[in-house]
Formats: sequence, structure tokens, C-alpha cells
Amino acid sequence: TESLATRDPEVAKAIGLELGRQRDEIELIASENIVSAAVMEAQGSVLTNKYAEGYPGRRYYGGCQYVDIAENLARDRAKQLFGCEFANVQPNSGSQANQGVFQALLKPGDTILGMSLDAGGHLTHGAKPNQSGKWFNAVQYGVRKQDSLIDYDQVQELATEHQPKMIIAGGSAIPRQVDFAKMREIADSVGAYLMVDMAHFAGLVAAGEHPSPFPYADVATTTTHKTLRGPRGGMILTNDAEIAKKVNSAIFPGIQGGPLMHVIAGKAVAFGEALRPEFKEYQKQVRANAVALADQLMKGGLDIVTGGTDTHVMLVDLRPKGVKGNATENALGRAHITCNKNGIPFDPEKPMVTSGIRLGTPAGTTRGFGEAEFRQIADWIVEVVDGLAANGEDGNGEVEAKVKAEVQAMCAKFPMYPNL
Ligand code: PLP
Repeated sequence: TESLATRDPEVAKAIGLELGRQRDEIELIASENIVSAAVMEAQGSVLTNKYAEGYPGRRYYGGCQYVDIAENLARDRAKQLFGCEFANVQPNSGSQANQGVFQALLKPGDTILGMSLDAGGHLTHGAKPNQSGKWFNAVQYGVRKQDSLIDYDQVQELATEHQPKMIIAGGSAIPRQVDFAKMREIADSVGAYLMVDMAHFAGLVAAGEHPSPFPYADVATTTTHKTLRGPRGGMILTNDAEIAKKVNSAIFPGIQGGPLMHVIAGKAVAFGEALRPEFKEYQKQVRANAVALADQLMKGGLDIVTGGTDTHVMLVDLRPKGVKGNATENALGRAHITCNKNGIPFDPEKPMVTSGIRLGTPAGTTRGFGEAEFRQIADWIVEVVDGLAANGEDGNGEVEAKVKAEVQAMCAKFPMYPNL
């Protein structure tokens, strides 16, 4: 019965401070979003108490009849959302969704072909420090020098040379649509599985604002917390009954134990929200806002990798202004604009420095920002970056303080979680 504030004031304080930060800053991290109060309510529910190893109707514990309702809703809604026949909603994260697919379809030592981290891929697609890079013979493709688009000729050459068992499409910093049909053709030419990791753009796919990985992918994975706007977690989708069976065994008992039923309930709520017409409008706005942000940044003298975006995400090349990604992330942070430094293709700087920042519109769009707000945000970013260019890493304190005050005024006009 005791509230968190009286039971544990230290943790309550940290949560309160984080709520204040989210309310008071503009969130441009492309992989983040702002879930509904309903999603949070499901996550903070008594379902956290329940062990439910197994799957609906076939559990290793008693008392699962009600959590089964939640998991069945999540699965059915996921299938409807992505137009596929099978969904496993138990992966605790995007990384575990990928690991689950590998466990289902590969053996240690098998060859995989994924996009390299520096070109925009994800750690779990075969990067050296990741399990995927250690346990598999991971070969990596990249983008073309001339236009920073995926080098499909290289994908084909590497596939022919290395005969991978699986090709992975998708990544964390890909501003343009991936050609799934082309990837399928390459996979077929060497008899490889095609896995699409749509973690970043799943929400766009659900809303028809991005091509679907189906029917091209044998299996698709996603996180549920990025554009899809659900709780933190992962999911695996397929139309192939054989693969579905293997994936189920791979997630449990292969790599996970008891599923997070409170999170699965949150996924069900989020997928329900994503099936509503408002979600289509939201994703349209996410894209329109990204186009506006990219356009205005270019007008301010910054380069955008590939010259723009057709998703929710863009990579800003800071080199025209002579500033670095780490200094820019810090300076924007001082002005209450949150983003992450990010290597650009063929980046001459080290990963902890970088020549770029990655920006995305999902969180700001959920908050209610439209194109006018995103053009204003672009102007603020340019002001702060110009301050860095003129003054070195410390930036221009006056400009940063002025922008911070203006950011706070905009945030106040778009309140977040008014009932918390
Ligand atoms: N796949 C892609 C393409 C991602 O961008 C991410 C998240 O950064 C993941 C997988 C991993 O998700 P998680 O952080 O939930 O493990």
C-alpha cells in the first residue's frame, strides 16, 4: 500500500527527475519514442508477478489463463498489423529477437552476411564484439562511396564468395528504404535465409508508410519500442510454419526463461493502438517531419547523408561546419536538445568522436510537433553548431542558453503525461 515516494524516495526521485528531463527536452534520438499512459499502465501491472514459461495453452505453470489472454491478443494484433501468419512476442529485446532467430536457423560457425555497424547496421548483425560476430563467421556489407546507399553489388559479390546461410537486411542508421526484393534475389542465388530486422522502421511498415519485409523475408524481427511506440521489447514474425516452430523453441527454452508478461500486455496495448487510423496519421507525420527537419538543416549549411530521408531517421554530416559528433551531442544537450553522435559512412573519426549525429522524429511527433516545430528545431541546431564552429568544444554559452530557454518554452506548449 505504501507509495514509491514513501517506500523508496531515492528511486522515486530518480524517476521524477527523468520525467522532468523528458518533459523539458526535445527528444531526437531516432530509436526512442513516448508510450501512451495505457501502455505504461499495462507494464506496471500485476502481470509482473506471473511465471508463464511456454506458450498460450501450453504452459509449464498453473494459473496462466489470464496472461494467456494478453499474449494471444499481442500475437493476434501483431499478425494483423504486419499481415503475417505467425508472431512470437516473447523476446525481451530486439537483440534477443535476433539471437532467437539465429538459434532457430543457424549453428555456431555458420556464415552470416549483415550490414556493418559503421555503415548503419546493428551490433547483432555480426559485429566483432557481439555474440553474432564471435559465434558465427560474420561477413559484412556496406554502402557505396558515391551516394551512401546500400551496395547491392557488394552484397551479391560477398554472398557468392562466402555462401552465407543467412543474409540480414536492416539496421540502426539507414535513412532510405531497403530493397527487400533485391535482397531476396541475392539470398535465393546462394540458397540463404533472408532475415529483415525492421526494428527502426516497423511502425512505418505497420502504417503502410514503408514497404513490408513480407513476402520477401523468411523471417522478420523488430523491437517494439521505436517507431512502433510500444514497451521496450522484441518480436519475431514469419509466414513459414517450419520456421515458426523452430523460433518458438529457440526463444523458449532456447535462450529465455519466463516471459515478461507485463511487457507482453504492454505490447498488446501498443499493437491495438497501432491498428487505429490515428496511427497511420502519426506515421505520415513522422515522415513529413523528418523531411522538414532534413531540409531545414541543409538550408542551414549542414549535409544530410544520402541528401535526405524517406524514413523517420537521418544522419547529419557535420563536416561542412568543421565540428565533431561528440562535441555537438554535448552542446545540443546543454541546449536541451537530445540526440546521439553517430559515425557517418567512411567516417574518418573514431566511434567515440564521429563526424555526425543521428536524428529522428518519432518522439517529437508523438509529442505533437509538426513541420513548423521541426524547422524551428533545425534552426536551433544550426545556431548551436555555428557556436561550436566559432568557439571550439565549449560552444557559444549565450546562444546555448537562449536556445535552451526557447526549447523549454516549446516543450511547455506540448505537455507530456499531464496526469503524472
Ligand atoms: N536491431 C536494430 C536494427 C536496432 O536498431 C536495435 C536497437 O538499437 C536492436 C536490434 C536491438 O534492440 P535492443 O536494444 O532492444 O536489444
